[in-house]
Amino acid sequence: MALGICIAAVLLYFCTGINILGLKYPCLFNKFTHLCCPGCGGTRAMRALLHGEILKCIYDYPPLIYGVVVYVAFMVRCFLYKHFGIRKSPDGAVVKHIYIFLALMIAQWIVKLVAQLAFGYYWFI
Ligand SMILES: [Zn+2]
Repeated sequence: MALGICIAAVLLYFCTGINILGLKYPCLFNKFTHLCCPGCGGTRAMRALLHGEILKCIYDYPPLIYGVVVYVAFMVRCFLYKHFGIRKSPDGAVVKHIYIFLALMIAQWIVKLVAQLAFGYYWFI
């Protein structure tokens, strides 16, 4: 019951911006260094994605769209494997996609750091 309420509150926040729990999670790395961390922009990107703003999602946090696409494909493959025996088990492919996601995460972090440190461009205003 409590988990359901928490999930509903999080979905409400992501979909409408209404924060009924009053929770705020500032990025501590950003707070102390004034630089973005490898995860900065993820929440903003998820919110943009839930609002159907794909380009804003990609701008804020490119690895997220990759992760979502891979996750949906993985779940479809698991469903097909479990219920219809179609294709082989998708277990082995997961690790490769985790490495790709991590590479994307580090690459976008480097781009954001270079933009900020070399050009004074703050990704999030
Ligand atoms: Zn951060």
